[in-house]
Amino acid sequence: QGEVNATTVYSEKIRENFPLCAKNLMNGLKENHHLRYQGRQQLSFFLKGIGMNVDDALQFWSDAFTSGGNLTSEKFNKEYRYNFRHNYGLEGNRINYKPWDCRTILSKPRPSRGEYHGCPYRDWNVDKLTLELSQGMNLSSTQVTSILDSVQRTEYTVACTKVFEMTHCGSTAVEVNDQTHISHPNLYYERSRQLQK
Ligand code: SF4
Repeated sequence: QGEVNATTVYSEKIRENFPLCAKNLMNGLKENHHLRYQGRQQLSFFLKGIGMNVDDALQFWSDAFTSGGNLTSEKFNKEYRYNFRHNYGLEGNRINYKPWDCRTILSKPRPSRGEYHGCPYRDWNVDKLTLELSQGMNLSSTQVTSILDSVQRTEYTVACTKVFEMTHCGSTAVEVNDQTHISHPNLYYERSRQLQK
C-alpha cells in the first residue's frame, strides 16, 4: 500500500500539505457524503497525482459516499465505480488522465451552490477567504492584505503561492517568481511534503 491510501488521506500529516482547493473538496465531501461531477473529477485526479492507487481510490470514495447512510455500497458500485475507474484509465477510452493544473481548474465552469470544485481564491467571497486566511491559517493582517491584493488582481495562483510561502516559510513579504510560482495543486502538495521530510 502506498503512503496515501484510503485511511492515511485523512491524517494530519497528509492533509496539511493540501492546497486550499483540495481542502475545500475534502470538506465538501465530508459534509455532504457526496461531490458533484466536477468536484469528483478535480479531487479524484488530485488524489491520483499524490499517489493514491485505484483500489484505495474506490475504497475512499465508497466510504465517503456511503458514510452518510443515504447510499449503499451496492448503489455506489452501480452508479459511481465506473467513473472512478475511468479516471484511472481502466474503462472506456482508457486515457490515463493527468491531474488538473490551476489553469484547467480555472477554465471549468464556476461552482454553483453545493459545489466545491474550482479555486477558492477566485470562488470564495472576501469575507469567507479572509476568515480562512486569518483564523484557519493563522496569518497576520499584513499577510492577509497581501494575499487579497493578488486576489483582487485576479492573480489566483500568485495568491496561492504567497499562502504557501507564508505558511511554510513564515515569510511576510513574498516575491513570486518563476522558481517559486505554484501553478498546480499537486506541485503545492509535493513542495509541502518535501519540506515536511
Ligand atoms: Fe488550487 Fe491552484 Fe487555486 Fe491554489 S491556485 S487553490 S493550487 S487551483
